[in-house]
Amino acid sequence: MSTIAETDIESRKIRPEIKQLEQTIIDWRRHLHQYPELGFLEILTGQFVEQKLREIGLEPQTGIAKTGLSVLIEGDLPGPTIALRADMDALPIQEENDVIYRSLHRGRMHACGHDGHTAIALGTAYYLAANRNRLSGRIKIIFQPAEEGPGGAKPMIEQGVLKNPDVDVILGLHLSNNLPLGVVGVRSGPILGAADIFHIKIQGKGGHGALPHQTVDSVVVGAQIVTALQTIVSRNVDPIESAVVTIGSFQAGSAPNVIADEAKISGTVRYFNPKYQNYFDKRIAAIVSGICQGQGASYELDYKRYYPPVINDSEITKIVSEIALDVVENEHSVVSQCQILWGEDMSFFLQEVQGCFFLLGSANQTRGLDYPHHHPRFDFDEASLSMGVEMFVRFIERYTGKTFH
Ligand SMILES: [Zn+2]
Ligand SMILES: [Zn+2]
Repeated sequence: MSTIAETDIESRKIRPEIKQLEQTIIDWRRHLHQYPELGFLEILTGQFVEQKLREIGLEPQTGIAKTGLSVLIEGDLPGPTIALRADMDALPIQEENDVIYRSLHRGRMHACGHDGHTAIALGTAYYLAANRNRLSGRIKIIFQPAEEGPGGAKPMIEQGVLKNPDVDVILGLHLSNNLPLGVVGVRSGPILGAADIFHIKIQGKGGHGALPHQTVDSVVVGAQIVTALQTIVSRNVDPIESAVVTIGSFQAGSAPNVIADEAKISGTVRYFNPKYQNYFDKRIAAIVSGICQGQGASYELDYKRYYPPVINDSEITKIVSEIALDVVENEHSVVSQCQILWGEDMSFFLQEVQGCFFLLGSANQTRGLDYPHHHPRFDFDEASLSMGVEMFVRFIERYTGKTFH
């Protein structure tokens, strides 16, 4: 991957009306960054979004899936209904950046860039509202809670956010420090992975560290399980496919000379191909059951399908790839086979309507803005914000066949 990094925002192909909004969008992002809130607790965030929309005469619908909002911008000309989706929630992380817009909420941080997504969506609303006379159709902007968990997309859909008027196509983006500023990553088909979570509780029989024959050692059983679970990806999944089984937590015991009676293991499963939807839970159950049976331990397994893979429509992706070429630096700045095993509940929207989710490069190595997402020092190049607005607006132009000029 190239490291661009000259971030001369003047060189980006962003229209003057969006350029004029740029500082405002950055200010909004910084405000949101200072007041991060966790999933379904986005009270201040929702109020801020609502207030900004009302200031330009828009009437958002609030309280969708607790803290979610949507707003409809009706064009003067007939046309399709296009939805744009932004997520609003932050993470339980203590920020370590020393910046003027540092988080004021202790132990809470926008470490994934959702403050940027919300600001981009607001900026797009401002541009569209000011250009309503040349807008064909309606744009529904969805401000979604709880993407980081437990998931706000599904309850928003259940409460009808894609209906009345019915959405024809949906678009969403994620800022990505895995890509340099000025680069767009997109792909037809699966772009992000499914994200499942599992917990295993192993019940052995504790005892004296010197007398293992009188016990069932839950640590030894657990260690075998951790190792054996790695064979699902290396030995069972088709090597052409991508998948991950990660054990993120293994807890057992409290003293060096005591055999632990109980061990707890938890992890996450990621994959792109929906055909594996009912596969990993069965393989994990078979392995855990076999090892526990062989060792005389008992177990409980809790496997939860969290988010399905994010799957882009091929026609809509083609449009996004084309408009990206107009916005980015050169033809090498569109990564057309971009895939990453992040999970995202944008997948639920894309199960309902055709659409595309793309990644917008936001890293700037020369400015030290390249920490990974979910890191206490995560931050991104704010020049990506106006690019996000430009991408949304160009998509609307291309999809409706009418330009704003
Ligand atoms: Zn995240
Ligand atoms: Zn995110």
